[in-house]
Amino acid sequence: MPVNDVLQMPLQFLKGVGPRKAADLKKAGLHTVEDLLFRFPRRYEDRSRMQTILSLRPGMTAAISGKVLNAGLAHTRRPGFKLFSALVQDESGQIQAVWPNQAFLKDVIKSQQRIVLFGKVEIWGSRGLQITDPEFEIVRDGDQGSGSGERGEEQLHTGRIAPVYERTGSVTTNMQRRFVWQALQQLAPGGAEGPPDASFDPVPEDILARQRWPTRKTALWQTHFPSSDASVDQLNAFATAAQRRLVFEDFFVFQTGLALRRHENAQVTKGLVCRVDDRIRQCARAVLPFKLTGGQRDALAEIVADMQKACPMQRLLQGDVGAGKTIVALLAAVVAMENGCQVAFMAPTEILTEQHYRTIVQALMGKPYRVALLSGRVTAATRRDLLPAIERGDINLVVGTQALIQQHVKFKSLALVVIDEQHRFGVVQRGTLAVKGANPDVLVMTATPIPRTLALTECGDMDVSVIRGLPPGRQPVRTLVRADSRRDEAFAMMRQEVARGRQVYVIYPLVEESEKVDLKAATAMSEQIARVFPEFSVALLHGRMKGDEKAAVMQRFASGRLNILVSTTVVEVGVDVPNATLMVVEHAERFGLSQLHQLRGRIGRGRHASTCVLLYQAPWSDDARERLRAMSDTSDGFVIAERDLQLRGPGDFFGTRQSGVPTLRAGDLMRDGDLLERAFEEARARVEAGTLSAPQLAYVRAVWQRQFGLITVG
Ligand code: ADP
Ligand code: MG
Repeated sequence: MPVNDVLQMPLQFLKGVGPRKAADLKKAGLHTVEDLLFRFPRRYEDRSRMQTILSLRPGMTAAISGKVLNAGLAHTRRPGFKLFSALVQDESGQIQAVWPNQAFLKDVIKSQQRIVLFGKVEIWGSRGLQITDPEFEIVRDGDQGSGSGERGEEQLHTGRIAPVYERTGSVTTNMQRRFVWQALQQLAPGGAEGPPDASFDPVPEDILARQRWPTRKTALWQTHFPSSDASVDQLNAFATAAQRRLVFEDFFVFQTGLALRRHENAQVTKGLVCRVDDRIRQCARAVLPFKLTGGQRDALAEIVADMQKACPMQRLLQGDVGAGKTIVALLAAVVAMENGCQVAFMAPTEILTEQHYRTIVQALMGKPYRVALLSGRVTAATRRDLLPAIERGDINLVVGTQALIQQHVKFKSLALVVIDEQHRFGVVQRGTLAVKGANPDVLVMTATPIPRTLALTECGDMDVSVIRGLPPGRQPVRTLVRADSRRDEAFAMMRQEVARGRQVYVIYPLVEESEKVDLKAATAMSEQIARVFPEFSVALLHGRMKGDEKAAVMQRFASGRLNILVSTTVVEVGVDVPNATLMVVEHAERFGLSQLHQLRGRIGRGRHASTCVLLYQAPWSDDARERLRAMSDTSDGFVIAERDLQLRGPGDFFGTRQSGVPTLRAGDLMRDGDLLERAFEEARARVEAGTLSAPQLAYVRAVWQRQFGLITVG
């Protein structure tokens, strides 16, 4: 059967995969034989070199081969505890092997059998050495020394470099090894060698030739059942040619899907194309309160160039906290509005929405644009008037949360959608992001920089603009890491800052699992601070408050009437109060690195020097120590993003597993970043040049369909 047909078979087709196991495998995202084969071993163990029993030492992990002298359940003093043990002998000596709580082995391991064991050697009281809970295989007569080079299934697990898989539900590593073996037999009996593989390969031939990579079939064999002369170290570093080839394939298929989406987007014609002339340039300049930085100017130029194209913009604007993304988006909005078009400006939270609304209204004061706010706090009556006005085109710019704009609003001439401070916008969700109906330009702005590798997977179908550096005159934020037993120091600094006329944030973590407790702690803290500083005005802000209350508190803080704002992380994103110069973060050990950076970005926004005090409660984990160290080491968001990715891994980077980070099958963003970069470039170039074969394209579509369900490419 052609390789490709076997690969697309459902897993039930393998012997031993019943409905229960199939369901468990499905839960782990494994549907087809291909899925299984692209699930790499977690690691490899060299079980090929048998050791003599005489040479065993405590602490070793060893493979031995010998004869079972006697075997049975041993008596133990602990009630209910069963210990199966076997005495095994080779030409050099004897050793006891024991398996706790596996009484069923009495029907499996019998006296006089030949057996191979792999496990940990331990000292066993005064009786010498034992090997505890080893993996084992019974060797049938005739298996050894057959010399054919083809092994019986019984010797998959030992006597070779053995792949070790992560357990999936009821499917153990041993079972998986058998399934993989079976699948590979179907592909190509006889191992990696054998007749050349004539079937289709998703990786273009010239790339394979250039890299000297093996064919798919060979690579799959060598990755799961490496030949005995392979280097275990190299295998465990996932650095063999076979492994790298499969990782590249994984990336390449995914990136080709993204490139196809991008390519298809470029074929769409949008209803409203903007023009830019001197008059419009003049209007934009009139809105500008300051001189743009070079980075801002470049980003704006790229955005405005996109707006003048016939196909809709799909652009990601990356910049550090405080880099000044908002004004860039606002200038793009002015261009759209001057073209007689409408703009939707979306933010993730009500607070941020309202802040944007205020900023925008102020920036556009005296200009002829009609701006409306569509927040949860807008009364039903207002909304009743607003929605038809938007539909008629009487409103030029609507600011609101994503949910509101996407659910309720019909536009007359929507040309530009700005999505601000977005962290959760994986490729998978983004399909549903654009406002229904029109094909507007879309500009997505990140809350903090996204590491390059993650941006390639998350946003490989978008174009990216990066604003490097911060506007002039910013003072770096001094960051102090302190045990919370030194809170008094923080209080003293608070007093000093407020006395100078500055304002202070005190941040409390609020994690969902312990929300009530945390909220109580935050409330208690706010009361304590109010007691300590009776002369200052102190208020509490948290996500459980009603929209009106929240907005009122934020308004008081923004206008300077409030000295100290005790808040949960609702201020995390985007809030801009330049007079706030001190931030005290309680339980800093509980926050993620990017989140801390986001928080710290709330200060250091004005003319005055700012300080961030990270209070931690001991004992803290190594990871927490690393995070806080990174915070005091650097304030460069691009550096912090990379560190955060290293510490957390891609699945957690966006703070939630459901962020839509696609699960790559074999590739690892950290380990295989170079291959990802290459796959990205190759895929884009080949899709643009139209050089991929029809089967290759069909394959990419099938994989995308299967892996990401809703998404269609091509
Ligand atoms: P972010 O990129 O985090 O969204 P903002 O757009 O909120 O940052 O900008 C941060 C602050 O910097 C705002 O107060 C804004 O007015 C100011 N700002 C932006 N660009 C400039 C500039 N070129 N010169 C001076 N101040 C600027
Ligand atoms: Mg912002």
